[in-house]
Amino acid sequence: MSEIKMGPCADMDWDNLVEIINLKKWFPVQKGFIDQILARKIDYVRAVDGVSFHIRRGEVFGLAGESGSGKTTIGRMIIGLIPPTEGNVCFDGIHLNSLKPEELRLLRRRMQVIFQDPMASLNPRMPLGESISHGLKIHYPEKSSEHRDMTMNIMERVGLSPPYFFYTKYPHQISGGQRQRVVIARALVTNPDLILADEPIAMADVSVRALLLDLMRELKDELNLTYLFITHDLATAKYICDRIGILYLGHLAEVGNLKEVYSNPLHPYTQALLIAVPIPDPDKRRTEPMPEGEIPNPINPPPGCRFHPRCPIAKEICSIDLPELRELKPNHFVACHFAEQFL
Ligand code: SF4
Repeated sequence: MSEIKMGPCADMDWDNLVEIINLKKWFPVQKGFIDQILARKIDYVRAVDGVSFHIRRGEVFGLAGESGSGKTTIGRMIIGLIPPTEGNVCFDGIHLNSLKPEELRLLRRRMQVIFQDPMASLNPRMPLGESISHGLKIHYPEKSSEHRDMTMNIMERVGLSPPYFFYTKYPHQISGGQRQRVVIARALVTNPDLILADEPIAMADVSVRALLLDLMRELKDELNLTYLFITHDLATAKYICDRIGILYLGHLAEVGNLKEVYSNPLHPYTQALLIAVPIPDPDKRRTEPMPEGEIPNPINPPPGCRFHPRCPIAKEICSIDLPELRELKPNHFVACHFAEQFL
């Protein structure tokens, strides 16, 4: 734990490992030469537009939403891969935005990533053992004599056993599930506090997904980890998350404990997402219709509540006033003018 809390993070609650405050990320739209000369203003993709939440130490916090909702962009800002346009990221009392590049690099050993596609994130010409130990060379060069043992230990722990067999293999020589274990081992080898897991099982076979999620849960408890788990799949989130935030077009629609949000969703968008989750019972069928349409263009988002063009219960005020995130039940927050009717 860091000894001093910095700037906007001075009031941070020590129960939280991460706090993000009014975070925004707007990407300028690239235009052609003529358009650049004629354009009077720059257009922006408002990928994240004022999001605040916290991640408690030792929990699995899920961020869920459709493609384009901004979840991956938030994850990348939290681990300092991209800077926010506005707002603050506090990690263990440290204000990330104020760090120099070298300070951020040192801090990164405490924040690691499990990417979605292990084939794309592993060097195809590098043996697995070297891929896993790469982070040790960067962050712990003074322990070079221990790197091989540290790598073997974590390989054994994630189920790449016997580790000496896998150490010299290449990514194309192992299965998809084993590749995902390699990516997990690579994230854990530097002994981090926070893991950003960005759709970590989306590329794995269905048969091994539950095994990988069980492994991630076990490792979290054993190594005292905290996860930010990003997914578009609420069935997966249900399996592993403790709390969840539902994102829609760069805004948080709902946040709360997973069981509470799943059993009593208060936002029409969360209700729509949960309708799409399959029920493992042939006698039970969903009858509620899904909202029509697609997620709107983030360059020109709808005014007021961004969900109003698709919302089945929208009223006039919804296209004018942006609803704030309100705590309608203990630790259950929702951004909807009319959520009380679902209490
Ligand atoms: Fe629907 Fe209005 Fe609630 Fe938005 S604020 S979710 S449009 S009812």
